[in-house]
Amino acid sequence: MLDVVVIGAGQAGLAAAYHLVRLGLEPERDFVVLDANDGPGGAWRHRWPSLTLGAAHGIHDLPGLPIGPPDPTEPASAAVARYYGTYEETFSLPVHRPVTVTAVRPETDDPASPLLVTGTEGTLAAPRTWRTRTIVSATGTWTRPYWPHYPGRELFQGRQLHTHDFWSVDEFRGQHVVVVGGGASAVQFLLPLAQVATTTWATRRPPVFGDRVFDREWGIDVERRVRERTAAGLPTLSVVGATGLPLTPEYQQGIDDGVLVSRGMFTRITEHGVVFPDASAPGGETEVRADAILWATGFRPAVDHLSPLRLREHGGAIATDGVHVPRDGRIFLAGYGAGASTIGATRSGRAAAVAAARAVRGADGRPS
Ligand code: FAD
Repeated sequence: MLDVVVIGAGQAGLAAAYHLVRLGLEPERDFVVLDANDGPGGAWRHRWPSLTLGAAHGIHDLPGLPIGPPDPTEPASAAVARYYGTYEETFSLPVHRPVTVTAVRPETDDPASPLLVTGTEGTLAAPRTWRTRTIVSATGTWTRPYWPHYPGRELFQGRQLHTHDFWSVDEFRGQHVVVVGGGASAVQFLLPLAQVATTTWATRRPPVFGDRVFDREWGIDVERRVRERTAAGLPTLSVVGATGLPLTPEYQQGIDDGVLVSRGMFTRITEHGVVFPDASAPGGETEVRADAILWATGFRPAVDHLSPLRLREHGGAIATDGVHVPRDGRIFLAGYGAGASTIGATRSGRAAAVAAARAVRGADGRPS
């Protein structure tokens, strides 16, 4: 029996694995890391080629090995995959891949019973099971793109895609693209799209641009607000949902050019476009024809594998107290809620490792 199974080898899972080693757990004998990807990089492995590390995106150093200065011309997918790969090798982390965990269930009804982690390994047909005292679930959000429902979605004859499937603005050259969503990804799609296509921005609420610098104090305030929601078992809030968008000179230019100006939200989708209410005529509507609808509508925590444990609250989400799940002392969540940034993932990976080691070894570090 293992002490800990870490599920996911992104920023959160790797930080957890590093700290488990430091806390005295033996790789392979005491813990393993199971990761669904074909290679290192977590969700970053799948980001589109024009997303680079630099001004808009960056990753926090994993403990014990800094990433070093980014090359702003190299795709983040390659840079982060290389960094995580080197990290796994440097610290001999026991990452097994590709293993997709499909379910975690208790062996018996006893709340202290071992957990059975079932996963499909590579192309092997038969699923495999790992028996463990605890798990650190660090599965991020990338595999759960969120598509809100609007009537007529199935009618649209053009292309519909989510941030998850975006690759390059070149695919939209000469087209009209409706970008849906009020977050950072929508803004980062709209500006380059406007160079090669025409765009309409659709958001449920007017986008809030602020000139406040994202400093430590504000960061703490945002984390507190997100944490309050997750503690209550409510669906997690995105960072932009809690902070608004930064009013950079580039974004100001986009507003001045009319690109970063929302038309509000459409009410339905037609064969050829989307329909907005027309404020100038009561009950009136205006159809905006489009070649593509890009849903930049975010992601949800990838926690389906935890369903057999029945951890969800009435609010629809798993309630957490930091990395702890009050409903089940064997489960620790890293990179969840307030931990869903690279710095949050690093910190919560450490906290989850400490909590899991304590759960299996006791506060004094001895096996319990
Ligand atoms: P991930 O990197 O998603 O890692 C989760 C791992 O778990 C993956 O390897 C996945 O394969 C694996 N996994 C998932 N399900 C299973 C399963 N069932 N079984 C086995 N393995 C599984 N944050 C920032 O702080 N700065 C940024 O600049 C930034 N840019 C972003 C850009 C985009 C487009 C998006 C979508 C998010 C961005 N974020 C950014 C948020 C970012 O995702 C997090 O910061 C962080 O990288 C998440 O780390 P993680 O370890 O929690 O998750």
